[in-house]
Amino acid sequence: MINTHHHGDHTGGNEFFVKEGATLIASEAARVRLLARAPSEASPLPVITYNEGVHLYFNNDRLSLVALEGHTDGDSAVFFEGANVLHTGDLFFNGRFPYIDTDNGGGVGRYLSSQEELLSMINDDTLVIPGHGPIARRTDLMATHTMIRNTRDAVAQGISAGLSLADIQKQGLDDAYESFAWAFISEAKWIETLYWDSLKSDETD
Ligand SMILES: [Zn+2]
Repeated sequence: MINTHHHGDHTGGNEFFVKEGATLIASEAARVRLLARAPSEASPLPVITYNEGVHLYFNNDRLSLVALEGHTDGDSAVFFEGANVLHTGDLFFNGRFPYIDTDNGGGVGRYLSSQEELLSMINDDTLVIPGHGPIARRTDLMATHTMIRNTRDAVAQGISAGLSLADIQKQGLDDAYESFAWAFISEAKWIETLYWDSLKSDETD
């Protein structure tokens, strides 16, 4: 069993499956987050970890586990090479504004870089399983990637023009991206993520 990162909606089955005999695998950074969050000593932790990646030879296929960053600092993607199937973890919310967990090491720039790496790993025949949203293809990942890039640039332009967060939220994003809003990440929330991320990147550049 592979944890693509530490969030509860992706690790809630750990205890059940480990009791059933599963071996828990995750990046070392995800294990650090799981350890910090573990409610009790009984909560199972990954027993096999990696820093950059690892191959698993399993079910007559080779799985390539790649350690990435951006949603958190402990993201992984899993590529089933023979089957040509990619599970992106939460580095891809298909057709939705993504959640960037800046309290746990996430950031917009690294999210985009990780998506670029995923795009370079796959082709038009690859079946892409996002962390949230319907099953996808490479073109869907590209569409969400482009949305993030364009909305990030729009918010940065607003900041350069001297607009406040409230001003930019009032102005809103391009209508083409209206459909990316969902219950967890509204347009206002996504603009807020981009706004603070942009100010933070300016400080560190
Ligand atoms: Zn998540």
